[in-house]
This record gives sequence, C-alpha cells and structure tokens, in this order.
Amino acid sequence: MDIEQRSTFRPGQGNFRWEGVAHQPYKQEGEAPFKDISRQVLFHDDALACELRYFEMDTGGYSTLERHEHTHAVMILRGQGQCMVGSEVRAVKQFDLVTIPAWTWHQFRASAGEPFGFLCMVNTTRDRPVLPGEAELAEMRANPAVAAFLRE
Ligand code: MN
Repeated sequence: MDIEQRSTFRPGQGNFRWEGVAHQPYKQEGEAPFKDISRQVLFHDDALACELRYFEMDTGGYSTLERHEHTHAVMILRGQGQCMVGSEVRAVKQFDLVTIPAWTWHQFRASAGEPFGFLCMVNTTRDRPVLPGEAELAEMRANPAVAAFLRE
C-alpha cells in the first residue's frame, strides 16, 4: 500500500479547530438532552475501527446522561469541568484521562470560565446510547455525590 496516498496533515488553527474538520452539533436536536456542546470528528478509520472526536462545551454546557455497551477513552484538552462515571463524580482539568466502562452511566459538565473540551475515542460501529428512566434516576440519586451532580 502506498502510505503517501493515505497520509493527511491537518494543521491546528488555534482555538481548538482543525483545518478541514467540520464543526458540528453534538447530536441531533431533540434526540436526547444536552446543552451548548459541539463535535469535531478528528479521525475516523475503519481499519482501526475507531474514531477520535473533540467535544467542547460552553460554561453551563453538558453532555447527555447516558450509558451503552461501547466504552469511551477521554482526555481533557481544555478548561475544567466535572464528570460523573457510575457512582463517582470528579472534578477534571486539562490532560486528565477518564475511562468509561461499558454500561456505566456518564455525563460531563463544564465549569464556569473558559470552554471545557475533551478528546473522546470510540468504536466506529457502536450501539445507541440508552437514557435513564425515572426509576434509574431515582436509583442514581440515592448516591449523595451523584444527586448533587445531577441537581446542578
Ligand atoms: Mn457516551
């Protein structure tokens, strides 16, 4: 295989944008609850069977509270926020790494100040996220740290 033909160089443009990479909405509106978050797909490789995305949210923004079979590997690239992974709620900042296991409830929230952005590696082919029902939310809220996180 001719490696040259497959190589691509995309300069960073500053402000967490990359040349030739579309700046997209996080998900389709109405698909699931989320706020003030964008998505850029940096790499998609069928042979590797993975995708690397950069998500960014403004102050007060958050990702969908969800779980699924596929896992996530996350590196915070910009700003500060909080993340809930199962029963754990942690403050996270630039360069922190977060692994989200299969079928574990998770959500990211931006702290006030600068935008909060992270890289997220995921399978190219993956199952659809599941959202919590009332009973599952009640179960999550039994954990005080999670209850406080979900109230914000
Ligand atoms: Mn997810």
